[in-house]
Amino acid sequence: MARLRKELTSQAPLTPALTSWAEALGDAIGRGMLRALNTGMPGMGAAAASPGNGAVMAGRRRGRPPKTVAGGPVPMDRRCTVSGCTREQRSKGLCSAHYQAERRRQIATGKPA
Ligand SMILES: [Zn+2]
Repeated sequence: MARLRKELTSQAPLTPALTSWAEALGDAIGRGMLRALNTGMPGMGAAAASPGNGAVMAGRRRGRPPKTVAGGPVPMDRRCTVSGCTREQRSKGLCSAHYQAERRRQIATGKPA
């Protein structure tokens, strides 16, 4: 009796159809990975394809570059109105840092925005 139950449990999950499906799935995953490696993931493929780019790749920062670096110098008419601050205006003539500081001060003193 016990033997019969053991056979049932060990054979039921592995039908030939399921096995071939699992093989097909593994095959598809393998092919997908291979294609990703060959065509390259964004930002990675070009460096991976040419071996000479290794040093550049290692020193490169990940993610979006900081806005001040990406946008270059901010024009005077779009700069934060706080003296000495060179960041770009975000709202009400203030950069995001000074605007948030102003907002926090208004909330703390109970003034309406
Ligand atoms: Zn500012």
